[in-house]
Amino acid sequence: MNSPLVYQVNLTEIQGEGDFPCPGCGVVISPEDETEDVYRIVNTKVNDQDLEELVIQCNKCKSKIRLVGFNGPEMGNL
Ligand SMILES: [Zn+2]
Repeated sequence: MNSPLVYQVNLTEIQGEGDFPCPGCGVVISPEDETEDVYRIVNTKVNDQDLEELVIQCNKCKSKIRLVGFNGPEMGNL
């Protein structure tokens, strides 16, 4: 078994609504998507009340993606 790749995505560098392409296969991952069709949440790291880090796994290419930058500017003003 080869160990899956782990990518890192900084949410503060993402424009728009927070969607980003999977670094492995390019499928669009939306943090608002709660269906787990595209990805599933593997691990969350919380510092006090604040979400600090989220590790997700792409269902398509099985890459793991570590999301950081939750403490940046407010996101999701839709
Ligand atoms: Zn992928």
